[in-house]
Amino acid sequence: MILRSFSSIIAATRDSDCDACHIAAMTATHAPSAVFCTIVPPHVLDKLSRSEDSGVSGPARRTLEQDALQRTRRRLTTVIGATGVTGAAASDQPRRTIHDAKHQDTLPGRKVRAEGAKPSKDASVNRAYDALGATFETYLKAYARHSIDDAGLPLVASVHYLQGYNNAFWNGQQMVFGDGDGEIFLDFTLPLDVIGHELTHGVTQYSANLDYFGQSGALNESVSDVFGSLIKQFTLGQSADQADWLIGAGLLAPGVDGHALRSMKEPGTAYDDPRLGKDPQPGTMDGYVSTSRDNGGVHINSGIPNHAFYLLAAELGGNAWEQAGQIWYDTLTGGSLSPHAQFTDFAAATAAAARARYGEGEQHRAVLSSWSQVGVTAAPAPAAEVPRQQPGQPQEA
Ligand SMILES: [Zn+2]
Repeated sequence: MILRSFSSIIAATRDSDCDACHIAAMTATHAPSAVFCTIVPPHVLDKLSRSEDSGVSGPARRTLEQDALQRTRRRLTTVIGATGVTGAAASDQPRRTIHDAKHQDTLPGRKVRAEGAKPSKDASVNRAYDALGATFETYLKAYARHSIDDAGLPLVASVHYLQGYNNAFWNGQQMVFGDGDGEIFLDFTLPLDVIGHELTHGVTQYSANLDYFGQSGALNESVSDVFGSLIKQFTLGQSADQADWLIGAGLLAPGVDGHALRSMKEPGTAYDDPRLGKDPQPGTMDGYVSTSRDNGGVHINSGIPNHAFYLLAAELGGNAWEQAGQIWYDTLTGGSLSPHAQFTDFAAATAAAARARYGEGEQHRAVLSSWSQVGVTAAPAPAAEVPRQQPGQPQEA
């Protein structure tokens, strides 16, 4: 049984040569897929690892090696079905546990703060605890969702993972944070949206289950950016025009020429640094990047649906988690979206979700307009109309 599952999983697992992200199928058939996404995408670490400055390249190489190891562990964990944490009753209170990995690679490490316990002297522990709580609270209050699985899944995190580890990830069971090398990246518990991004991969895993490759993978990434940003906005009480629409603001060390990992408002402008390279994200289909790396550019082309969401939120005004966020949440959880959805499919699904909840009014028009502005046709094409082929858009398999 286990052996048959293993071979099926390996066969079902897509993996690129240099990639820190991959899919491990929970089973060989149609069950949810757990994405192993690291918040710092592989193209950034690749660039850093080629630096002539060993203080920059060393931590980047070690981070890439550790991410590859985690990818393997994720696969093995899937095979043996270890440490299930589901089954908790849905509650309006989170159940958080924070661990200290003490710069080792053993997870989860020593338990340092349980739900309801007083704050630690360690700021990283407290930030992780608060961020898990903020994510839980946003999903509960804005969308009536009980934790990642909507069934009260306990939230577990480990801080101080490895020495100078330049990443953070959700491994399908828990959050893991590095301290950063201090040279390029700071402590990964600092940006709330990073934590919201990673936990939202869990939400997607339990809902639309978007395939982590190509356009559906870019949609998976984008959904994590959208709700990562909305969790930050909800927590800070920011309206759409007050929000920075950045992912990872505060993560880059002083001296790095950049202000975040990604910008939803202006994709492609988050950083431009000799060591990091330039933010490669396009904001429209004209800049769509065809690549086999990064699972087909999932962290790059996500800029396009990210920007569509920003445009919608800006057009509707007010709090972005309310109407714009509700439309995206309905789309993600409504059950109509294929795991292999392309941008045009997702756009059509958001238009349908807007119409279902708000009718044929302002919201529906704004959804169509926002997708149109990024070069994606939202409405299902009539039979007589030839679907628009976008520059660089890969053919559907
Ligand atoms: Zn991600």
